Amino acid sequence: MTTVYLMFGPQGSGKSTQGERLAAALQVPYFDAGKSLRALAASDSDTGRQVEQLMEKGELVPNSVLKSLFYSFMETNNCTNGMVTDGFPRNEVQIELLDELARDHHWQIIGVFIDIDDETAKERLAKRTIIVDGQEQTRDDDKPEIVAKRLETYRRETVPVINWLKTHWQLIHIDGKPDIDTVADAVKAAVLNNGQS
Ligand code: AMP
Repeated sequence: MTTVYLMFGPQGSGKSTQGERLAAALQVPYFDAGKSLRALAASDSDTGRQVEQLMEKGELVPNSVLKSLFYSFMETNNCTNGMVTDGFPRNEVQIELLDELARDHHWQIIGVFIDIDDETAKERLAKRTIIVDGQEQTRDDDKPEIVAKRLETYRRETVPVINWLKTHWQLIHIDGKPDIDTVADAVKAAVLNNGQS
């Protein structure tokens, strides 16, 4: 059966780093919603500008945009052996879409929740840099006031999705506080252990 792993965790939990590593270890494609949206926001289009404005405010972009990005990801990647998603689904509409796809394609869905407290999240984001065109930069939406807004959106929209997964599919809970390698080992061990049980 094809397994789809969904990475969850508050901003700064390291879910992207861990999602990328998990996808590489499993040799399956990796869908990074935030990264795809940042590329769209940088494009010269009406949708790009709308997405950019919402991201700058720390608000979620329309579900229709995510749907089309995810469909185009599925079309351009071979997902027959599974996939890892990061930042998608992030609200109830998106989990319903994924749930429907899972039933149609006979996927097994497993959430991987990288857990850290708010203080650690804020501390990490204050120090975070990303590489854009070879240059080290800070993200506009990592400013403290926008981080607070993103964490609030996360609690309101995404925490219910995580709870829903616990009852309807499966959720692996990982402590995200230790260093990257320790967390990556814990994710891998939990995923492998899960496959055998
Ligand atoms: P991230 O890099 O995952 O923190 O995402 C950065 C921003 O992209 C978020 O603050 C949202 O504005 C937007 N975003 C990412 N994923 C989604 C999603 N699944 N649905 C709606 N908006 C999203």
